[in-house]
Amino acid sequence: MAATPERASATPRRKAGRHRGEGQWAAGHFTPLNGNEQTKKDDDGLNVRTRIETIYAHRGFDSIDGADLRGRMRWWGLYTQRKPGIDGGKTAILEPEELDDEYFMMRVRVDGGRLTTEQLRVVGEVSEEFARGTADITDRQNIQYHWIQVEDVPEIWRRLEAVGLSTTEACGDTPRVIIGSPVAGIAEDEIIDGTSAIDEIHRRYIGSKEFSNLPRKFKTAVSGSPVLDVVHEINDIAFVGVRHPEHGPGFDLWVGGGLSTNPKIGVRLGAWVPLEEVPDVWAGVASIFRDYGYRRLRTRARLKFLVADWGPAKFRQVLEDEYLRRPLIDGPAPEQPVQRWRDHVGVHRQQDGRYYVGFAPRVGRVDGTTLTKIANLAEAHGSGRLTTTVEQKMIVLDVTEDQVESLVAGLEALDLQVKPSPFRRGTMACTGIEFCKLAIVETKGRGSSLIDELERRLPEFDEPITINLNGCPNACARIQVADIGLKGQLVMDDNGRQVEGYQVHLGGALGLEPGFGRKVRGLKVTAAELPDYVERLLSRFQEEREDGER
Ligand code: SF4
Repeated sequence: MAATPERASATPRRKAGRHRGEGQWAAGHFTPLNGNEQTKKDDDGLNVRTRIETIYAHRGFDSIDGADLRGRMRWWGLYTQRKPGIDGGKTAILEPEELDDEYFMMRVRVDGGRLTTEQLRVVGEVSEEFARGTADITDRQNIQYHWIQVEDVPEIWRRLEAVGLSTTEACGDTPRVIIGSPVAGIAEDEIIDGTSAIDEIHRRYIGSKEFSNLPRKFKTAVSGSPVLDVVHEINDIAFVGVRHPEHGPGFDLWVGGGLSTNPKIGVRLGAWVPLEEVPDVWAGVASIFRDYGYRRLRTRARLKFLVADWGPAKFRQVLEDEYLRRPLIDGPAPEQPVQRWRDHVGVHRQQDGRYYVGFAPRVGRVDGTTLTKIANLAEAHGSGRLTTTVEQKMIVLDVTEDQVESLVAGLEALDLQVKPSPFRRGTMACTGIEFCKLAIVETKGRGSSLIDELERRLPEFDEPITINLNGCPNACARIQVADIGLKGQLVMDDNGRQVEGYQVHLGGALGLEPGFGRKVRGLKVTAAELPDYVERLLSRFQEEREDGER
């Protein structure tokens, strides 16, 4: 197969420069420096689709090549899931193949979080027929299935693609789903609607070999909402709605945000981008990442490391001089949001006088049957449009005033709350040990029972609060930017036994006063103690807080 660096690209390659030892293609380092880079060089991840369709789906799991199984299948949204019954203590000890189940997690990308009721019905059908009813809403607006067998993948693709959905580059070292404001084009307070830019980036670049071999994943967010509802601070690239004093509504450009190892809040380049130029600027930044990004160590490969080394001024200069070949327009920073909740839960008026209705499942967990029922409700009460949010919530759009009450009642009958407690609203959980091979502890079930306990114990608590549970030291549920971040690990209980528990991080936030939570030294709680601990913490906060303290 052709090696990736030599593939034709619309963007000119940089010439070989001085040796900088990080595997940057722009410095002439085309020799792969680790196994992942070798796999990508051997064959583009996108090419695995043909093998899935023509070989693996017919011959079954055992026929799958190892580099495809643990590498390239991600380019089509497929990861092997964790074999049931392996406890968290074994996660770091076992070889990857010992943890692999013969079933897959499959991620469906939902760019901008936009779904029609027709699409949601197909998502529900696929869940029921091929995924044992599983369908989680992720914190990047995607839908995630479990229990997928390789034999069924071509048929699942056929059904999803027939309604305009796909799993293309839903995982892997690629441009992942483009997060968008879930109320784009309808919110009364909107600065600018970024939908056309999301669609154009998708049309030009998703599934294109121009960007199918990046040093690592590349996360994008676009929102023209003053609520700042796309966690723009922690994306590799973000376009945030602003009004330019001379040019009007457009986007402020941010780069280099990300959690996991060395979490970083993205930095502003001080540039204002008009709507129609967003796709070109996006391609320029993605090209810098592809060409100058670090490819030696996976843990230093995200764009944030390059941005941290270069600083915003040099990054903007390279973008302008080498990729856009024109200067960007200077522009203002976004204004501070006025509210802490950014999830659009509740009933809100739209620009056109209709309403949108945001509701909260528990920690993003729904199922195929529920999704079909949601589609039926949205069709009966709205125009057939829905969105997912980055807080694992959903919104029904375009509801006339006379339909609101009946829709709210229908959702609440499915335990999908439109007026949830702060605990239901603000608790998120990653996949955890149920399916994730990297997990050490359980998360979804525990998040759900924590909500019940806190609602029972603190019925009067009415402050916005975010409680995020991760099953391991990674950051899939954004623990570093939660009021209470819970990082899964094994801890000692009072009897000296190793049990599931959490390292506690406190005081993180996005939006108003963004920053990372502090790891409270030595503060670890066992899973059994978790409700008591959170109750004590929140009760004390209520008793002792000063005015305006969060
Ligand atoms: Fe898996 Fe860890 Fe991510 Fe949770 S945070 S989904 S356990 S990798």
